[in-house]
Amino acid sequence: MNKDKSQTICPLPWNHLATTSSGTYRLCCNSVDQENQVKKDGSSLKIYKNKFDNVRRGNFYNEVRKQMLLGKRPSVCQTCYELEDEGVPSSRESYRKQYWETTQKIELLAPEQSNDLEGFPIQYIDLRLGNLCNLRCRMCNPWSSSSWIKEAPYMFENESFQVLDWPEKNEAWIDEILKHTEIEEIYLTGGEPTLIKANIRLLNLLLSRGGEDIKIKINSNVVALESELLNTLRNFKNVQFKCSIDAMGELNDYIRAPSLFNDIEASVDMLLQESFNIEVQTTVQNYNFLNMPEWFSFCIKKDWPEPTLTILDDPACLDIRKIPENITEFALLEFNKNLNSFNLSENRRLKEISKLIGISPDEKQWQGFIHFTSKLDDLRSLNYRPRFSFDSLTII
Ligand code: SF4
Repeated sequence: MNKDKSQTICPLPWNHLATTSSGTYRLCCNSVDQENQVKKDGSSLKIYKNKFDNVRRGNFYNEVRKQMLLGKRPSVCQTCYELEDEGVPSSRESYRKQYWETTQKIELLAPEQSNDLEGFPIQYIDLRLGNLCNLRCRMCNPWSSSSWIKEAPYMFENESFQVLDWPEKNEAWIDEILKHTEIEEIYLTGGEPTLIKANIRLLNLLLSRGGEDIKIKINSNVVALESELLNTLRNFKNVQFKCSIDAMGELNDYIRAPSLFNDIEASVDMLLQESFNIEVQTTVQNYNFLNMPEWFSFCIKKDWPEPTLTILDDPACLDIRKIPENITEFALLEFNKNLNSFNLSENRRLKEISKLIGISPDEKQWQGFIHFTSKLDDLRSLNYRPRFSFDSLTII
């Protein structure tokens, strides 16, 4: 095996199809936002207009694959490489393990074979069929949540926003999915996938074609669990239900408005009675990183799965890596104090958070955090303050 290639190659540019909520093809959901969207002559290429087989043979994908085969790091994948540099497991590493046979085949390719895609079927699909959502989480935006649209003109400049309902208007996207016959896994998110009817349509079509072995991964805020969707999912042999929850109690209600933590707790308890594989997926950001030990302790006591963590990088102003130097020492001290008080100082996932606090300090992003938080709190008429609060920098 070529050692340099193993440091750069990820199987996804060979075996993955992903879209944004507007239907634009993108490299994958971990890659650098905007830079990862596929365009031709300035126009975005869409799953309901453009054939993926042509798209993945175009310049964008070919260049990413060529760089990886040359042992170089494509800039669009810097999120993964930066985590690895910090000793934190990346999505690239986990996809290499998951698609190990494909990865080994890729590593035998020469750089000039970067567009030789025979023998590399699409195995993994990540679909966002619009932005219909019932929540307006603080770290989200109107492109991913229709509930954000009303507040968006006050928070985002020079943009117009709408409910993205292209999956209902043009069904060509369904053929684009169904033509792939070697799909192993489909990831559905949104918007809120439990509210998007097109997901149920797609799942039923897959079942009618004998697709019950396809692994279905669904990322839900678990606020509105629709029984029609649950009934459909019960027909698949392997369903992974990723419950997106970032905190408990009032902090949940602050981050994931207008949800109430009690409802979420009841949903997870209910899902745990199902035959699905349940995961608690937590997005770590400025608002909640200090509460992580408490959150882990709650999950342990409830006998829920230990949360898996995503370190938020967009919006950058909420990224814990950007905490400025003069505040990092204080943040680390408080974080470690909380770890100790919940007897979790040896927890591997929590220790990874402490490696990242303030590693790329950015005063401009800190000012952005203050501005964004104050403005949104005013707009939502909130007095609640999370523990890591910029306005006092003392723990509440
Ligand atoms: S290296 Fe990371 S960002 Fe790039 S395609 Fe793989 S998972 Fe996505």
